[in-house]
Amino acid sequence: MEPMRNSIFKPRALSCIPDCLRLSLNLFEPEFPQVKLTIILACVGVTRTFHCGIILTDKLTAAYCQLKGTEADQGREVSSGCGFMGCIFSLSLECLASHGHFTVGVSKTESILCIILSPAYIAQFFSLGACMEGLNILLNRLLGISLYAEQPAKGEVWSEDVRKLAVVHESEGLLGYIYCDFFQRADKPHQDCHFTIRGGRLKEDGDYQLPVVVLMLNLPRSSRSSPTLLTPGMMENLFHEMGHAMHSMLGRTRYQHVTGTRCPTDFAEVPSILMEYFANDYRVVNQFARHYQTGQPLPKTMVSRLCESKKVCAAADMQLQVFYATLDQIYHGKHPLRNSTTDILKETQEKFYGLPYVPNTAWQLRFSHLVGYGAKYYSYLMSRAVASMVWKECFLQDPFNRAAGERYRREMLAHGGGREPMLMVEGMLQKRPSVDDFVSALVSDLDLDFETFLMDSE
Ligand SMILES: [Zn+2]
Repeated sequence: MEPMRNSIFKPRALSCIPDCLRLSLNLFEPEFPQVKLTIILACVGVTRTFHCGIILTDKLTAAYCQLKGTEADQGREVSSGCGFMGCIFSLSLECLASHGHFTVGVSKTESILCIILSPAYIAQFFSLGACMEGLNILLNRLLGISLYAEQPAKGEVWSEDVRKLAVVHESEGLLGYIYCDFFQRADKPHQDCHFTIRGGRLKEDGDYQLPVVVLMLNLPRSSRSSPTLLTPGMMENLFHEMGHAMHSMLGRTRYQHVTGTRCPTDFAEVPSILMEYFANDYRVVNQFARHYQTGQPLPKTMVSRLCESKKVCAAADMQLQVFYATLDQIYHGKHPLRNSTTDILKETQEKFYGLPYVPNTAWQLRFSHLVGYGAKYYSYLMSRAVASMVWKECFLQDPFNRAAGERYRREMLAHGGGREPMLMVEGMLQKRPSVDDFVSALVSDLDLDFETFLMDSE
C-alpha cells in the first residue's frame, strides 16, 4: 500500500497543548523522512475512543502484532518478573506505512511512548465476581452499604440472567433494588447504561418509596473454562454505572421526578465519573483484583501503568471536548446565526482545536449530540471537573474515608435534582470553587507520571 500523507493531521496552534500531547503530535508533521520510532509496548490496557489517540494506538497495536518477528526483530521482549510482558522495539515509520497501518508523516526522530496494553491479560484479575466484591467493599467502607443477591420472584425479570441486588444500609436497612442486566444477549442494545424503573419519593403516609433501577452492561458470559472476565475498560464502566445507581439508591427527595440521576445534566455524571477515580486507584483495586485461577493480586506497577496509559492523548481528547462544547454553545446562542453552521464549525475549530477543519465536510449534521444535548454538551467536562475536585479534596488521601463518604451522601447524592448543583458542590468541597478551580481540576488530570512510563524501559 502506498504511504499516504494525511493533511488533517497537520499540527497547528500547538502552544495551547500540554507537553504530553505535543510529544505525540510531533508525529503528525508531513515531511515523512525515514525515522525510527522507538515504541515501548507495555502490557495491559484500555482502549479509548480518542479522536487521534485511537488512530495512533490501535494502528500501532495492529502493526505490532503483524510485525513482531519480522521487521521488528530488533525488539527485545521485557518482563518485569511479575507477569508483566512487553516489548521494546524500533522500526521505521515507512515500514509501518507499507503495511497500511500508518498513514501520517513524521519529521524528526522523536520517541513516542506508546503504552499498548493487552486487556485480555489484565482481565484475568478482574472476574465479575471479584469486581462486584470490590464494589461491595468500597461501598461498605465508604457508606456503610452492602449489596445482597436476592432471588427474583417468578416473572419478575425479563431475562433469566438478570440478577437482583438488594442495597442494604447497616443501620437504615433496605435502600432500594438494582437489577443487574450484565450479559450480552441477542437483540439487547449494545450500550452500558443505568435507568430508573421507579424513582424514590416521600409518600403521603410518610413512608419512603424505595428506588428500583437497572444497570445494563454488555459483558461476555462465563465459559466452562473461566468466569466472566472484565477488561479494565469494562471494570471502569461497571464502577461508572454503579455510581449512577448509588445516586438513585441514596437519593431521598420528596418528589420522584427530581430523584437520583434526574438532576441537571451538568451534575448527572459527577457520581459516576467519581467512581472511575476509585476504579483507578491502586488502594481500591488492590482490595479485589485477584487472578481468577491463582488468586494472585494485581501488581502495583501494573495498576500504575494502566492508569498512566489512560493519559495518552488525553489532552487531545480534552481539547476536542472543549471544541465540541464551544461549538454547541455557539449553535445554540444568538439566532439567526451570522453564518452557515459549516462556516461556524470551521472558524470554531480553527480557534479551539489543534487539528484543522477538513474542507467540504459538514460532520456537525451527523453529530447528534449537538441536537440531543441542546446546548448542554459542556456537561461532560463540567461533571469531570467536579468529580476531579471531589476526588482530590475528599478521597485522594484516603479512598475509604467514611466521614468523606457520609458527607458525599448528605451533600451530593441525597438531593438528586432537588438542590442547585453549585450548592451541592460547595457543601461537599466546603468552599465555592471558582472557574479557575474547574479548569485546573481538568488540567491537573492530564499530567503524566513519566516515572511510571519509563519503569520498564530501562
Ligand atoms: Zn454515565
